[in-house]
Amino acid sequence: MRLPASWPRFPAACWSRGDRAGGPAGRRPTPSGSGSPCFWPRRSTRWHGCWSRWTGRCGPMRRFMSAVSSWRGRPTMAEPSPSASLLTTSWDDGHPLDMRLAERLLRHGVTGTFYVPVRNRADRPVMTAADLRELAAAGFEIGSHTADHRRLPGLSRADAGRQMADGRAALEDILGRPVDGFCFPGGRPGRWGRLLARELGFSYARTTQMLRIDAGADPFAMATTAQIYPHRPAALWRNWLRHGGGGSRLAILRALALRGGVAQDVALGDALAVLARRTALRHGVFHLWGHSWEIDARGLWGALDRALAAAAAAFPTESRVVNRALVTLRPVNAPPPRPQDSFP
Ligand SMILES: [Zn+2]
Repeated sequence: MRLPASWPRFPAACWSRGDRAGGPAGRRPTPSGSGSPCFWPRRSTRWHGCWSRWTGRCGPMRRFMSAVSSWRGRPTMAEPSPSASLLTTSWDDGHPLDMRLAERLLRHGVTGTFYVPVRNRADRPVMTAADLRELAAAGFEIGSHTADHRRLPGLSRADAGRQMADGRAALEDILGRPVDGFCFPGGRPGRWGRLLARELGFSYARTTQMLRIDAGADPFAMATTAQIYPHRPAALWRNWLRHGGGGSRLAILRALALRGGVAQDVALGDALAVLARRTALRHGVFHLWGHSWEIDARGLWGALDRALAAAAAAFPTESRVVNRALVTLRPVNAPPPRPQDSFP
């Protein structure tokens, strides 16, 4: 385990979901970031999930209560610190179009991390070994995305571990250097993902949680700010609710909820540009992520250029980092936006 001491350690999941790691019997901490312990007695495990859902201690009701309670002052981001603002990007799936994407990043002076599976079972091609070496030589971080781009929630612990270990080993063979970054395909760690990431020696694992301008409290559930994708408001609301809600995240949701009547790529590019500028002003972390194949299929290269240009103008060169740096630098934001703020 290489969990940095500066990160608070939380269990992978609530006790009611079957995770008994950490904490004395009968006094189980709740999922990361919530801060309030779950004191349900151990002997009531069998009914815990049922009762707790209705009492709001765990499960969907708990997440809803957590979302609501954030408006009463519960922080949903890491504690403020004097750290400088940071800009990072990450790109999933290792599609050959990542090379075109890397050119755009370099043109704007922005770096980032590419999460690459060895094969993609969704019948999408992946970059060659030479491409990966070229990206690494250009200063980009290469992270693992399992061997076959398998989503972990549907796998047994053994299969999930194999996917994670084999994917990383193949990348290390290609690159000739250690690979310690991981991104969950589909964004969800499932029952074992975070635990396995720790056990296998990864330094961090990125999720698809959005609407944050900090890296999150748990390095094995790294959060992001926005995806370069014209999400419908309903999708943003689902992401907001699934990851604990929060007034500050709601402000970012409002900024990203695209209005009708405007060309999608223009509206998305403008929204991301303003979001990047506001994040820099708040000394937060602007973490843009996406898929090159999706950008190409939806004609979002212009939106990407607008977002990267604005981000590069807002963040000084020394604050543009790869995902791995979020773990060691532990950048956090200045006081988060209030729910009533217009953000942007
Ligand atoms: Zn993926």
